[in-house]
Amino acid sequence: MATRKLLLLPGDGIGPESMAEVRKLIDMMNADFGAGFETEEGLVGGIAYDTHGQSISDADMDKAMAADAVLFGAVGGPKWDGVPYEVRPEAGLLRLRKEMELFANLRPAICYPALAASSSLKKEVVEGLDILILRELTGGVYFGEPKEIIDLGNGQKRGIDTQVYDTFEIERIAGVAFELARTRSNKVCSMEKRNVMKSGVLWNEVVTATHKAKYSDVELTHMLADAGGMQLVRWPKQFDVIVTDNLFGDMLSDVAAMLTGSLGMLPSASLGAPDPKTGSRKALYEPVHGSAPDIAGQGIANPIAMIASFAMCLRYSFNMVEEADRLDQAIAAVLDDGLRTRDLMSEGMKEVGTVEIGDAIVAKYKALAA
Ligand code: NAD
Repeated sequence: MATRKLLLLPGDGIGPESMAEVRKLIDMMNADFGAGFETEEGLVGGIAYDTHGQSISDADMDKAMAADAVLFGAVGGPKWDGVPYEVRPEAGLLRLRKEMELFANLRPAICYPALAASSSLKKEVVEGLDILILRELTGGVYFGEPKEIIDLGNGQKRGIDTQVYDTFEIERIAGVAFELARTRSNKVCSMEKRNVMKSGVLWNEVVTATHKAKYSDVELTHMLADAGGMQLVRWPKQFDVIVTDNLFGDMLSDVAAMLTGSLGMLPSASLGAPDPKTGSRKALYEPVHGSAPDIAGQGIANPIAMIASFAMCLRYSFNMVEEADRLDQAIAAVLDDGLRTRDLMSEGMKEVGTVEIGDAIVAKYKALAA
């Protein structure tokens, strides 16, 4: 059995509490199912600053580069609001994304049946929803140059950001979209604004050409990103994989996130290019939520986003599809049983803490595997 190397970076606030529940799953999968996970731990964010004066040390960065996958908790909090900009907690996450070249950000929006009634949309619109938003993460308007504010000398200033994409950047994210679609319902919808943006015209052309060259078995549609936003709240179940750029992806993935209820439920994955020799990708898995300083240390954080991020790690880094499905089913079953952390509480449900819901998911996983 091959060793599977995981780096755990719990971070700040509720990061360590949530990660502790994933650690239980890892220990159980090693002990009961011979999963062969080998874990190392590192510091990131405020705690890394307190310890090393950096938001992530070079030594921990090396561990991240050597790992098969990184599990990341959350960083930040009021304690570090005044630290220098270059070493602020978020800089650790940005360094990981940059040095690991994580260009593909996957944000699934899954509506667990037990939570369909708590969405802001009608139950029938979201019940059974399972879509994946794929956002290009390292290019586009957030990074394009020039990026500046210039003084026009007449009492006016000009703010400039540059939306820029090269062919290879669009090709590689499109490739990830088509490959992911093949493991799901085999449909990709590409979103851009080709009606008003040159980068949108190129995006559309390159996605179309990539599809034709290598992925014509996948159903491809195109939609203008603004119309896509509308369709996401009108009838989200029409989509399977949505692929889009950094800016539109930032917004559309937040819209999709809210279809499913609490921030405490949302996992994500960021993937790099496949290694030409081994085919494996650098990867980092993290919940969408932050460090939630308002509830940290109280034992009430919802660990499901972190646990579901680990399920994505099983699926995408280790091809442990059966185990990933089982973990997702365990989460759904625990919710079906009426267990809820405080953020999900509604009438008639049973409120439990972080550790209790984590224990229940571990027990359910074992029961499902029996
Ligand atoms: P947040 O996501 O930490 O919290 C927003 C609200 O949601 C809070 O009321 C919080 O209690 C609640 N919440 C979040 N996750 C929850 C969970 N798992 N269970 C129960 N409730 C949960 O966002 P924020 O308050 O804007 O930011 C807090 C800190 O986190 C800031 O320092 C911010 O910079 C940082 N942050 C970090 C990341 C990251 O590490 N990737 C992302 C976003 C924010």
